[in-house]
Amino acid sequence: MPHPNDPALRSFIPVDPASDFPIQNLPYGVFSAKDGLAPRVGVAIGDYVLDLWELEQDCRLPVTDLRIFSASTLNPFMALGPKAWSATRARISELLRHDNPELRENPELRARALVPMAQVTLHMPIAVSGYTDFYSSREHATNVGVMFRGKDNALQPNWLHMPIGYNGRASTVVVSGTKVRRPRGQLKPPTAEAPSFGPCRRLDFELEMGVVVGQPSPMGEMLSEAQAEAMIFGFVLLNDWSARDIQQWEYVPLGPFQAKAFATSISPWVVTREALEPFRLQGPVQEPVPLPYLRQARPNNYDLELDVALRAADMNDGLRICRTNFKYMYWSSVQQLVHHASSGCAMNVGDLLGSGTISGPEKDQRGSLLEISWNGTEPIELAGGIKRTFLEDGDSLVMRGWCQGDGYRVGFGEVEGTIVAAE
Ligand code: MN
Repeated sequence: MPHPNDPALRSFIPVDPASDFPIQNLPYGVFSAKDGLAPRVGVAIGDYVLDLWELEQDCRLPVTDLRIFSASTLNPFMALGPKAWSATRARISELLRHDNPELRENPELRARALVPMAQVTLHMPIAVSGYTDFYSSREHATNVGVMFRGKDNALQPNWLHMPIGYNGRASTVVVSGTKVRRPRGQLKPPTAEAPSFGPCRRLDFELEMGVVVGQPSPMGEMLSEAQAEAMIFGFVLLNDWSARDIQQWEYVPLGPFQAKAFATSISPWVVTREALEPFRLQGPVQEPVPLPYLRQARPNNYDLELDVALRAADMNDGLRICRTNFKYMYWSSVQQLVHHASSGCAMNVGDLLGSGTISGPEKDQRGSLLEISWNGTEPIELAGGIKRTFLEDGDSLVMRGWCQGDGYRVGFGEVEGTIVAAE
């Protein structure tokens, strides 16, 4: 049987070469249709969602517990572990292949199991157990450091020795399309004598990838590189909305708190680690060499294109404001997970790890408005007369990501969020 990542595979379902969801991808999500059934697990293929619950009821999948795919989150499926993930993906690939009549020539099953994407609502794909956000792009950390501490002290002394992170809030991780209310908080501009409380005036986005942890690790135990990698179920696009003015006043000495707690948006489709395998590459050289527990024997970065578009309420189309690549990240997702567990911290099924803002070496590769507008000093023009330093009410932000194969792309769809006024 060909491997599900084989570039030569074709589905009997027509898939445009520019589609994010060819047979080589098969990302998992949670959807509901107009049939009145509860949200359940599906896989994206071209312009359709494949209903795994229907296939399972028809005894077509290697997973036999009917509660796995009728669940409203991917957590029960993730808990089955990497062997079940691989076997299920291989079987779905087989069912969708152009040269397999099993589903193709079964109109009754096709009608039940293939739902046009245009008719579904996509939900939060996972129940987020814990959310941790890292700070692992050297270019982003350097840009922010130069802005606030000057060129000579741009990187903090610990930055090249470990992936820096903080514990965020799982309660406000939301799926693409959820409106984001402008946060309120304590503000104290450097020129003000005393703080005041009110709507954030410097609202920003952060372009990130999210790692979905699909297996637990016990409290008290460290992880090897191989163990950490095997726990990663897949990846999503992630927008770590940030209130820069709240952050600036509150972050010393314990780091971000309310500035990041009001919303984090993720894309609805979880692209599996296995589907990204052909796009694996070596990350930047790490100098100084990390401590032994953080050393990597394998390349753990991915060649994954990213772009961000911003659309003001009175614009028809968004304007691209960033084009970068996940491959620039200094610390890999595997190193982040190894470091996260290194103290003895337990990891859970459904944990979400934000990569940190993904910026690249070039000016148009900056993954936040803080960097793009250089702390508000260099406004960008979106369209005739519409300028931005930070986000205004009504602004809509769309992030996209994909790995480009030869004649196909393994894509993530998008994560969108629109800002609404503070109460
Ligand atoms: Mn962040």
